[in-house]
Amino acid sequence: MASETKTDVRNVVIVGGGPAGYTAAIYAARAAASPLLIEGWEPGGQLMTTTEIENFPGFKDSIEGPALMAEMKAQAERVGTDFITDAVESVDLSSRPFRVKTGTAEVLAKTLIIATGAKAKWLGIESEQTFMGRGVSACATCDGFFYRDKVVAVVGGGDTACEEAIYLTNHATKVYLVHRRDELRASKIMADRLLKNPKIEPVWFSAVDEILGDNSGVTGVRLRNTKDGSTRELAIDGIFMAIGHQPMVEFLGGQLELTKTGNIKTAPDSTRTSVKGVFAAGDVQDSVYRQAITAAGTGCMAAIEATRLLEEDE
Ligand code: NDP
Repeated sequence: MASETKTDVRNVVIVGGGPAGYTAAIYAARAAASPLLIEGWEPGGQLMTTTEIENFPGFKDSIEGPALMAEMKAQAERVGTDFITDAVESVDLSSRPFRVKTGTAEVLAKTLIIATGAKAKWLGIESEQTFMGRGVSACATCDGFFYRDKVVAVVGGGDTACEEAIYLTNHATKVYLVHRRDELRASKIMADRLLKNPKIEPVWFSAVDEILGDNSGVTGVRLRNTKDGSTRELAIDGIFMAIGHQPMVEFLGGQLELTKTGNIKTAPDSTRTSVKGVFAAGDVQDSVYRQAITAAGTGCMAAIEATRLLEEDE
């Protein structure tokens, strides 16, 4: 952990220890901007709950999520990033340098890169935790491949749920779409595509009561009818939660403009936010792609834009 004092003014402060944050750090460090990365209490981000990653280029035999994050962090460290393992509690973006407060330190930042990511929303039932990573997932692109010729369920009725269900038909033989109403929230085009897909069976008016399984993982799900309270069981091999994501923006205290999905709004083809000198990268800014590789890509963009601004300042 780097020692910080109240008087430190850093060129680049990065908030968030996921693919976007670490990549921003690597690029900023290699541009001699001596970045400080505040990585939160659970560094690594969403990939820490992923098992094998087969779609991050450069690892032909796949890599475990935590191992990939450890490599990224080690690379950021080797090229000269300082780290604070603490959560940012608040920021003051009213003037530059910006003030960034953690529980134990306050740093001043000439430029700030927000890469705090998003949390997948979970149902919050115990069996979801029990089978996490053993049949319960919130990312079809990450884990769909493991359900070749199997039967899976997707929970939710928005664009994410439709996209995940359609994607899963590339692998699974059958996909149930479990939704608590009988009307999809998703855009018409996605809803039509979903309803036309012969491998997808919508299960309307249904909420997950319990995920069922044994030592080998998920074997089924008990559903509760949201109209009459009756229950039924479906035999499945995996279940994907697609009930929305929550971008991590609370600590910003409303100082940055957000999109209607609650993500940080950035300029087109840029990571610039509504405040000059503040950049946003990764899932906190992206509600569409939400992949480790795209997060890393926007992290790179943010570092380049931040270091260019520092050069302009000089
Ligand atoms: P949404 O908030 O749009 O949808 C969440 C869905 O999950 C809703 O159908 C909701 O049900 C259901 N849900 C929420 N909480 C629960 C719960 N506790 N139990 C059961 N069901 C629950 O989230 P998305 O992630 O789908 O989309 C977020 C945004 O990102 C949207 O604006 C979307 O359009 C956009 N997006 C765009 C894509 C694209 O353009 N390709 C792809 C993915 C997302 P109910 O409808 O009853 O409230």
